[in-house]
Amino acid sequence: MSDLFTLYQRNEAFAATFDKGHLPMRPNLSTVILTCVDARVIPAHFAGLETGDALTMRTVGGRVTSRVALEISLLWMLVSLDNPNPSMELAIIHHTDCGMARFANPDVAARVTERFGSEYVVETYAFSDPRESLAADVARLRASSLVPRDLRVSGHLYDVTTGLLTQQITTARIG
Ligand SMILES: [Zn+2]
Repeated sequence: MSDLFTLYQRNEAFAATFDKGHLPMRPNLSTVILTCVDARVIPAHFAGLETGDALTMRTVGGRVTSRVALEISLLWMLVSLDNPNPSMELAIIHHTDCGMARFANPDVAARVTERFGSEYVVETYAFSDPRESLAADVARLRASSLVPRDLRVSGHLYDVTTGLLTQQITTARIG
């Protein structure tokens, strides 16, 4: 059975007490969060985000893809429409026990590569050490000609067993 019925039931309860209809498009916080699609990794919960607080992007693994670089650039332009010197910052959050670690297994990686006909997928998403993947993702942003040099980026690890977030890469301009 589809989950849609459950989702709509929950939405009805949500809308019944909804009082945030007056919020502006511009978020309260200037930090954009990029994290994994994992169902245990919910920024609104672990970082206490309220409606209207922050822009949140999610990719598989929380990895920086070429599309993420494009969208960060697009968001920067959007903010620039009102503020020529945006203070936008990106927090990349990877997490423990990520499903993308399974793609780092050589046997699984070979199957993925065969399925997609290219090593691109494994190279983009697979990782075994979240600290290395965070550093690699900052490097990807730096290597992208689309990403504004003034964007500040930091890297963090969310532990799905403790609920704790720890900073792994200090905030720095992409420069
Ligand atoms: Zn994940």
